[in-house]
Amino acid sequence: MNPQTKMLATIIAKSLNLGDEWTVVDVEMRDCNPDPDELHVYIERTPGYALRCPRCGVMHGVCDTRERTWRHLDIWQYKTYIHCKLPRLDCEGGPITAEVPWAAPDAKHFTA
Ligand SMILES: [Zn+2]
Repeated sequence: MNPQTKMLATIIAKSLNLGDEWTVVDVEMRDCNPDPDELHVYIERTPGYALRCPRCGVMHGVCDTRERTWRHLDIWQYKTYIHCKLPRLDCEGGPITAEVPWAAPDAKHFTA
């Protein structure tokens, strides 16, 4: 990331309330002229961090990931999308999708 992107990533991470376990790995601005420009935020689990299980509340490691995209509230004038390799946690009851701070449980999401 160049310094400008890095600064942007830091601001976005704060505004999304990301904990240490999530990292903004890239931010991309797409000029969609004449449509509103788009902001694409790429987030990954920070390597080495376990995540709390939404089923049993215990911290688990990750068994696999699935690419997902969320339409987020606009940031500045940009249509904002969040992309994440969403981890599935290695729970005793079977793999379970991790909860992410930027998506309420009832938030709309769609697969890229
Ligand atoms: Zn569990």
